[in-house]
Parts: sequence; C-alpha cells; structure tokens
Amino acid sequence: MRGRELRGELDAFLAETEQDLVAFRRDLHMYPELGFAEYRTTQRITERLTAAGLVPAVLPRGTGIICDVGSGDGPTVALRADIDALPLQDEKDAPYRSTVPGACHACGHDVHTTILLGTSLFLAQQAAAGLLPGRVRLIFQPAEELPGGALEVMAQGGISGVDRIFGLHCDPRLDVGQVGLKPGPITSACDRLLIRVSGPGGHTARPHLTADLVFALAKILTELPAALSRRIDPRSSLSLVWGRVEAGSAANAIPDDGIAEGTVRCLDENAWHVAPDLIKSLLESVAGAYGVEAEMEYTRGVPPVVNDEMSVEMLAEAAQRALGAGSVAPTQQSLGGEDFAWYLESIPGAFARLGTRSPGGRTYDIHQGTFDVDEGAIAMGVRLMAATALTALWESRPVTVTDPITTLA
Ligand SMILES: [Zn+2]
Ligand SMILES: [Zn+2]
Repeated sequence: MRGRELRGELDAFLAETEQDLVAFRRDLHMYPELGFAEYRTTQRITERLTAAGLVPAVLPRGTGIICDVGSGDGPTVALRADIDALPLQDEKDAPYRSTVPGACHACGHDVHTTILLGTSLFLAQQAAAGLLPGRVRLIFQPAEELPGGALEVMAQGGISGVDRIFGLHCDPRLDVGQVGLKPGPITSACDRLLIRVSGPGGHTARPHLTADLVFALAKILTELPAALSRRIDPRSSLSLVWGRVEAGSAANAIPDDGIAEGTVRCLDENAWHVAPDLIKSLLESVAGAYGVEAEMEYTRGVPPVVNDEMSVEMLAEAAQRALGAGSVAPTQQSLGGEDFAWYLESIPGAFARLGTRSPGGRTYDIHQGTFDVDEGAIAMGVRLMAATALTALWESRPVTVTDPITTLA
C-alpha cells in the first residue's frame, strides 16, 4: 500500500472507531488489574479480537494474549502492548477513575492496550482486503511491572519466528502527536542486591580475637561502589547505591551477622551482563580481608532496552507517513526499566515514546496516582503502530522494481 493511501485509510478507520477506543480505554482504566491477574482485561481484549474475526490465544496462566493477523510465507512483525496496572491508589478526579482500591493504570498500560487493540482491528481489515504483505503478531503482554511478563511470553514461543518487534510507551513530557525516538539504549537496567555478612561475634574490647563485622560491613558499603567505578567503563553509568543496612543490637557487642541492600542501575548492556560476577569477586576480596563470611543475592531486574537502528528508522518513516512531518522528536535514555528489553536480547526491534500531553496542558508523571493522558494519543498510537507494522513488512521483503515499497509517499 502506498503511504498516501495508508493515511487516508487510517483517517477513515479512526473516524469510525476512535470514540469506541476511548470508551474501551476508560473501561480498562476503571477496572485495573495487577500483573498476572489481568483476567478481566484479557477477556475484554479477547472478545474484541474474536468479534473482528481473529483467533486470539490466551497464555497458559490465563492472562495475556498472542494473536496473529495475516498468514503466508512473508515476514513476521510483532507489536507488543503491556496490559497490567500498578499497586497504587488512583488520585484523579475523573469519571473513569479506578474503582479498585490500591490499583491504578498509572503507567498508561491501558492506553498501550487500547492502541494495540485499535491497530489489530485496522490490520484485520487490511488482511481481509488482501493488503497485508506478511504476518503481524499481536502480543498483549501481562505483568510488565513485576517485571517478568516478557519472559513468560517468550517461554510460550511468543516471539519464535518473529523477524522484528515494536512497542511504545506513553510519554507525558511529549505533546500528543509527537513520537520520541532514539537508536541504541533508551531505558536502563535496574537490579537488586542483598549482601549478608557473618562472623563469630564477640566483645568490642577484643576485635582482634574475632572478626569485626560492623567494620567489615562498612568497608563493603564504601569499597564496592568505589571499586566498581574503577573496574567498569564509566560511560556505562553503572551505579550501586545502598538503601538499607542492618547490624548489631548493643554498643559493646560485635554482632555475628549483618545485611546491606541496594540497587544496581546501569545504562549499558555489556556492563549489566558482567556486573553480578564482578560485584561477587569484589565482595569476597573485601570480606576476606576482615575475616568475615559474605554471601550475595543478586536479583536481576531487566536489561536496558537497546533499540535497533534500522527498526528506529522504520518507526520514524511510519511516524512521518501516518502522523505527519515533524512528528518525530529526539528523546533521552531514561533511568527507568522496561521489560520490552528482554525481547530485544533475542530479536531486533525498537521501542518508541508516544506523546500524551495536551499541548499547553499539565505535565504529568508516570507511576503517580494523578497520572492521566490526553486521549487523542490513542488515535496517534494506532496510526504509528499500524504504519510501523506495514512499513516493517514491506521493507523486510526482497525489493523488486514493481514492489510498492518504491512508491511509498
Ligand atoms: Zn511502569
Ligand atoms: Zn510502563
């Protein structure tokens, strides 16, 4: 399909469906569900996909959906939306505010879900008209916030046979109609670290006859971050920051155990991969010097989302075709985490930021009980996702002189 035609078809589709999509989003917003408990949400999406003639497959745990549109031997492009809410109180004063105490769509996943639903309905129409040059896999992913839903999708074969994957996230600092794009890393890694130290304990009068555990723990607290900064490329911005320390109960007794907990954040994928082993060896050498035993529990969060350059170009081209020239804005790597990163460790793809701020309006932040979006972003998201899928499908095919790719507007 030519770019000009695509834009016209999206206009016609959205003129008919935009209000319905907004209502769908408000319904999800009123009934938010936390990770791996998105049963009602899954049901609502399934009903709509089925009504459009698609065949959704619910993941074995009962939440989340994988659904293919189109068939044949062409390439396969996946579009992913996350469907879970956050354990936060909704503090908005809107008619569609959450009806579930302690649960709120404060990360905009209701908007992502609605955008993917709208895109699914549009692509189903395209497929029925014989205009889909390949297969689009729709991934309605559960439990992004836990995180772990991406790993569940992958364990169920959700991206096997997929050539390229795309996703987006609401960005309340960008105006509606803008798309934030960046090749390379766009989010960060964040892991948790728990260290336990133990020793014989004893009287503070005789530290030389035991192991001075509090002193050793203090050394670990200061030495580990310092040593890391000299062992890892400073450009990776790896930071270990402690959030909790605990040891001892009396002024004159050396305790026999203590703990420290903190987070490891990192902008760079390579540094993220080597961090646990490096921290472990540094810990052992510091603890060994003071005669205490140390063990470490390192809990992986998510790696950084590292956008593939060609996929970012496809998003940019799609944004220009479907949202207009000037819709693409540069964006920065954030220190937040996003489990879309797991997909990009296996296949190429890219993650976009979708503007949700009303021009001249209030700037919200995600993960806050007051978060809301300008719902005009839903139609923009549908335009972007549909155009991206079609662009990626066309560009994944061998180009011939008569291929419609050569006539894209
Ligand atoms: Zn979030
Ligand atoms: Zn999110």
